[in-house]
Amino acid sequence: MTAVTAPPVVRFAPSPTGRLHVGNARAALFNWLFARRHGGRFVLRLDDTDRDRSTEPFAQGIQDDLCWLGLTWDRLERQSARFATYDAARDRLIAAGRLYACYETPQELEFRRKRLLAQGRPPVYDRAALRLTDADRARLEAEGRQPHWRFRLEPGDVRWHDLVRAEQHVDESSQSDPVVIRADGSYLYTLPSVVDDIDFAITHVIRGEDHVTNTAAQIQLFRALGAEPPLFAHLPLLVGGDGHSLSKRLGSLSLADLRQQDIEPLAICGLLARLGTSDPVEPVASLQPLIDTMDFARIGRAPARFAEADLQTLSQRTLHVLPVDSVRDRLDPAAARLGEPFWLAVRGNLARVADAADWLPVVQGTLQPVVEDAAFLAQAAEVLPPEPWSDGTWKTWTSALAKASGRKGRALFHPLRLALTAREQGPEMARLLPLIGRPRTLARLRGDAA
Ligand code: GLU
Repeated sequence: MTAVTAPPVVRFAPSPTGRLHVGNARAALFNWLFARRHGGRFVLRLDDTDRDRSTEPFAQGIQDDLCWLGLTWDRLERQSARFATYDAARDRLIAAGRLYACYETPQELEFRRKRLLAQGRPPVYDRAALRLTDADRARLEAEGRQPHWRFRLEPGDVRWHDLVRAEQHVDESSQSDPVVIRADGSYLYTLPSVVDDIDFAITHVIRGEDHVTNTAAQIQLFRALGAEPPLFAHLPLLVGGDGHSLSKRLGSLSLADLRQQDIEPLAICGLLARLGTSDPVEPVASLQPLIDTMDFARIGRAPARFAEADLQTLSQRTLHVLPVDSVRDRLDPAAARLGEPFWLAVRGNLARVADAADWLPVVQGTLQPVVEDAAFLAQAAEVLPPEPWSDGTWKTWTSALAKASGRKGRALFHPLRLALTAREQGPEMARLLPLIGRPRTLARLRGDAA
């Protein structure tokens, strides 16, 4: 297991520019499970520096989605409230000569990039801006150009031990100095993220593999700001069942949509926690078993396949193990009043919690029994045990009836099911019978609507 010496502090850092999809949920889940497993803290950080695209409804939606999954946070931070802190870090880095002003237009940069590629050279930014004099800069600004700012990378290898990907290294000489502040003064994600990770004392950065390429520059930024970098764990890409990147189908895989489809949140967590591991996917009745088995060492490096059909199946299997307390507030009021005995009777036959109501007429409503053999049912009524009834009554009754009638198997059981439920199949009769009760059972055996 991954060695953890002190309680970790982790963060999940979505941008509120849309609702969460299963890929985000996976990053959130691993952060949360890791924090809970090691007695640490889980920070929800809303990366809302992009003021045009971030909205309050999305910020609220993300929080709703996380609560629905059961992934509650210990601290909530919004980057939009922290610009003064980022500005202070920016000024320190400028003073230290690690941020430098650049004036190239996107067209100029693209032209240079193409030229380098045509020469068969890597398209690395040539740091021309570092050679500008004060007079050059004054002239460019007088022309109306606003600078964007790059972070000057130190040359050489940056190495880190990734908790999923093992030893990693990036040769920074092969990388362009990243732009961290745009010409309009807005921050790209890199600098605020590192400043926050330092301020919130983040110990482990757990996120998708798509961020691996940012990591080396971020490690240099941590050091430039006088901090030790955290540990990193980059989760392999999640791909759709067809092997394509999930992002192509984001719309249909948002958590909000899955919730609309009555997918069980514990099924989403159960599946996401196991994808890309060799552990079997099993339904869970709480997040605890996932916490107990959370370990980066179990995660493989290959892309993890996510198939919606697997989620549907696991959602049903999850219902079949959920206790009534987990579903009570989603049950039809009449079903909720019947409580645990009813839930335990029907849960194994449900695809959605709401479907429990379909079985209400069988135990407390009126139905027209299906009578195939009235004489047999009359015989059944004669040996029907007196109340009180329990889950054992069905066995007592049908054993007596087997003896009296000489029937067994389907010939014995099926006419009883048809008479008592008017359906071909359904929950275990042993659990249903006490809920139906003796008077209603007798009426239905006579063929009366009851
Ligand atoms: N806001 C970034 C994203 O959503 C956070 C990445 C990170 O975890 O560092 O991709």
